[in-house]
Amino acid sequence: MVRNDTQKHVKSREESMARIGFLGLGNMGLPMAANLAKAGHTVVGFDLAQAAQQAARAAGIEVVAAAANVLDGAETVVTMLPAGEHVRGVYLGTDGLLAKAAKGTLFIDCSTIDVASSREVHAAAEQAGQLMLDAPVSGGVAGAEGGTLTFMVGGADAAFTKGKPLFEIMGRNIVHAGGPGNGQAAKICNNMILGISMIAVSEAFSLGEKLGLDPKVFFDISSKASGSCWAMLNHLPVAGIVETSAANRGFKPGFAAAMMHKDLKLAQAAANHAGAATPLGAEAAALYTLFVNAGNGGLDYSAIIRLIAGKE
Ligand code: NAD
Repeated sequence: MVRNDTQKHVKSREESMARIGFLGLGNMGLPMAANLAKAGHTVVGFDLAQAAQQAARAAGIEVVAAAANVLDGAETVVTMLPAGEHVRGVYLGTDGLLAKAAKGTLFIDCSTIDVASSREVHAAAEQAGQLMLDAPVSGGVAGAEGGTLTFMVGGADAAFTKGKPLFEIMGRNIVHAGGPGNGQAAKICNNMILGISMIAVSEAFSLGEKLGLDPKVFFDISSKASGSCWAMLNHLPVAGIVETSAANRGFKPGFAAAMMHKDLKLAQAAANHAGAATPLGAEAAALYTLFVNAGNGGLDYSAIIRLIAGKE
């Protein structure tokens, strides 16, 4: 009896193991793909960059010669690409993944891209008879490596149900944010709050210093008062007060200013498209453009205090 149960368990585990295509094996994609492989799935990957291909082979991932080859026998295909143009290029058109895949394939795009591109790809997927989810992440490379990412997912219920077991391998916090493109919408709206609030915290701590306030004393007051916010409590841009601050390690990221800049620009593109007024989001995007153009993209986003305080 015990033996039968064990056999049944092994069989159901084997049945739930899938062949997964993975496109984009960069800083984020490779550890995510590696976690899927570690969980027992067969992962077949492709990346345009030779270095990424080599790293993927070293991590035990089968690397194929062309993007379309990841489709062979795959039930699910995950993409983790730089931006909307790459995602549109890979998915759309007669040579795109959507046209070439067997009907009913589940596509999960984890890239952070503009909402309009995401919805365009979703619509094309539906037309082609494929299932599609947009599933941008937060948590960075450490979260990708540790399988602790947060996934913000947009798409139909049926697709979400099918994709959820894979998200649970690659992440810890999985939220279905609604229909097509809503994962991207949630990510950029959240990061717009973070960018604006980091600038507000930077302005207040810079002004406080000029007025003779000790930053630790001001933190003790404001962190328990109405000025408190997540950016202040977790990523305070002043060293020596909050343990998790990048300021304590010379603004080594963390969450790079270049990434914040990208997300704020995506938020502005979405706001323009939707006719939404986001004056502070626009200002935050402009300040991060200045900061990144001055060569600071590789610093943590909280280093924006250097620009605000005139300490660049
Ligand atoms: P990356 O540049 O390290 O990786 C992207 C990979 O895609 C590269 O290896 C590139 O060669 C490959 N690529 C580009 N076009 C391709 C194509 N047509 N076919 C196959 N491969 C192709 O970038 P990343 O840091 O891994 O980020 C990927 C996505 O995740 C981005 O959208 C980024 O905004 C988002 N993101 C990154 C982080 C982070 O901390 N790095 C955090 C959250 C979200």
